[in-house]
Amino acid sequence: MSDCLFCRIIARQSPAEIAYEDDAVVAFKDIYPKAPVHLLIIPKRHIASLTEAGDDDVAALGRCVLAARRLAEATGYTDKGFRLSVNTGPEGGQVVYHVHFHFTAGRRTRADA
Ligand code: AMP
Ligand code: ZN
Repeated sequence: MSDCLFCRIIARQSPAEIAYEDDAVVAFKDIYPKAPVHLLIIPKRHIASLTEAGDDDVAALGRCVLAARRLAEATGYTDKGFRLSVNTGPEGGQVVYHVHFHFTAGRRTRADA
């Protein structure tokens, strides 16, 4: 079994409320939501951090961004808007070392908060 929590979620070896899945991406509810809608979008390909991403990862990362567009449509936030953020490294607040895009919506937030 993988020692990466998000790889285990992809493999259905750890529970999660999955909101979207395709061949490249999985999105699931953040267990400690910080906004009315708080989803995590992850590539199925294990990329530990943006600092480790390379040219081979471009497609997987792009698919995560496009998944955000779909999730906005599915949750009704296309027009109201949403935020996509990637915490990176210790001072960037990254806790789980499998790249993930936080999709948050439903609350006005400051650009740096
Ligand atoms: P980060 O600080 O950017 O690495 O974010 C990690 C996020 O993963 C946090 O927002 C956590 O609440 C969330 N998280 C941790 N464990 C789980 C889990 N088992 N299922 C869903 N979300 C989780
Ligand atoms: Zn992983």
